[in-house]
Amino acid sequence: MNISVFVQEYLRAAIRKPRQFLKARLARLCTICGYEGRFLDVGPRPEARCPNCSSKERDRIMGLYLRGNGIDMAGKNLLHFSAERPFFRLWRHNPGYVAGDIKISKVANAVVDITDIRFEDGHFDHLICHHVLEHVPDDTQGMRECFRVLKPGGTAFFSVPLDHSRPETWEPPAGMPAAEVERICGWDHVRLYGRDFPDKLAAVGFQVSEIRFSPEDGERHRLTEEHALDRQGLDRIFVCTR
Ligand SMILES: [Zn+2]
Repeated sequence: MNISVFVQEYLRAAIRKPRQFLKARLARLCTICGYEGRFLDVGPRPEARCPNCSSKERDRIMGLYLRGNGIDMAGKNLLHFSAERPFFRLWRHNPGYVAGDIKISKVANAVVDITDIRFEDGHFDHLICHHVLEHVPDDTQGMRECFRVLKPGGTAFFSVPLDHSRPETWEPPAGMPAAEVERICGWDHVRLYGRDFPDKLAAVGFQVSEIRFSPEDGERHRLTEEHALDRQGLDRIFVCTR
């Protein structure tokens, strides 16, 4: 058990939402750290956080896929955009690990612009781009760059908020105020992806597999984000090979 994270998370939960401890809760299983027990509420999202590694729902979806498929990042060149904290803790000492973001932070060890990645062609074995492209104005250029820096035979993992009722991605009309775009798409999002998202990845050259998760996994590991902007229930992961 990670005592310092555990104490920190319980204190935060007790201060922000003490009433959650009056409710009985099922034991959940974290796909990243293996902790089994009560998860903690985050704002309006019940049982969102693992107290042992701070993972949230979407982090555990990626964890479930990676762990379930025996994908080990040790010794690999990995480009990880906007790293999730529990993964950053796990991988930060790997020499080939690049946690890239628009600025250095507690969970970013490199400044990387997804539309202009300063690495040579085929440098990375793996790439994780989990809930990032919905923030990127030129997402096609971002996908092209991800394809370029991936090794032939390498794998990239993408996910975005998807509106499954839309056959096509909605791009806001030119001149629409940012506040209106955000009202429609969610905080800091610049578009609303539809069912054509995998086609966009395929169009830049990737072989794309769409990975879905069962409702049973959703419950066991608490994978579904339950809040107002949730449009898709269980997240999907698009596993892309070059
Ligand atoms: Zn955990």
